[in-house]
Amino acid sequence: MKRYLLSGLLFAVLLAPLPAVAEEVVVYSARNEHLIKPLFDRYTSETGVEIRYITDQEGPLLQRLKAEGQRTPADMLITVDAGNLWHAAETGVLAEIRSAVLEANVPANLRDPQGRWFGLSERARTIVYSTERVKPADLSSYEDLADRKWKGRLCLRTSKKVYNQSLVATLIARHGEDKAEQIVRGWVDNLAAAPFSNDTKAMQAVAAGQCDVTVVNTYYFGRLQKDTPDLKLAIFWPNQDSSGVHINVSGAGVTRYAKHPEAAQKLLEWLSSEEAQGDFAGLNMEYPVNPKVAPDAMVAAWGSFKADELNVNEAGRLQTAAIRLMDRAGYR
Ligand code: FE
Repeated sequence: MKRYLLSGLLFAVLLAPLPAVAEEVVVYSARNEHLIKPLFDRYTSETGVEIRYITDQEGPLLQRLKAEGQRTPADMLITVDAGNLWHAAETGVLAEIRSAVLEANVPANLRDPQGRWFGLSERARTIVYSTERVKPADLSSYEDLADRKWKGRLCLRTSKKVYNQSLVATLIARHGEDKAEQIVRGWVDNLAAAPFSNDTKAMQAVAAGQCDVTVVNTYYFGRLQKDTPDLKLAIFWPNQDSSGVHINVSGAGVTRYAKHPEAAQKLLEWLSSEEAQGDFAGLNMEYPVNPKVAPDAMVAAWGSFKADELNVNEAGRLQTAAIRLMDRAGYR
């Protein structure tokens, strides 16, 4: 009797007209809110698709995705650095997707060959030097920063940061472990101060005269330049006769257990489009990955450069080897 009543009720529910449920996408983002919200708001106003998101550091977000497993509400993961994207893919939390739109908009070396993540903005990790104490002609390559002529003149960020792990991983890919270790040992020998906790502090040390040269991501230079109009620092593009400038990405993937996989893929495709790329990159003074979109004026003013064409995926694959190598070389 009760069962009849229950199934009758269920029937009534099934037959009732469904309220118009707006489509939605749930995003876990290691990219800061101020860099994504303007784009999400625009997408919602254009498509009616609601975007719910949380932001956190990449580590806790990935832990959360893993712990939630099939029950996760997340449809998309946005994070920075190919090392982190590679790690997320290896952990199994991202779905393999094939999309002609993404494959056209994102160059092959800036996405996972298996389609589990796609770069959405590009940053260069390059040399920044004191315009008072260094001539650009004295500079040439990352490798050359290991030369004795830089003894007591080099500042670096800590090796604990994934950005430096990715840089060293590409040195391993290029030169093999032995040569890469020699280079890193040379850097350590040349340090003027213990490694800094972030790129901005490393540049401030150069500006203050503690050292003459450092290696940082371009957008941190851009921020400092905006805050300090008479900054006596400049960007140098290394390795222009060899491997090219080390580049990395911020990027995103659709989660393996997405509840709205099609909507998530559409959002990802839109983020790679000509319409969205200018803002996605520009809000953080980065380079668009979509070759049809020009960088904003301030970024363009740093000049063009030859970038390393190695697939950024290599940075992830060789990350553990890079961490061990830096440890052996005494790079803290
Ligand atoms: Fe950063």
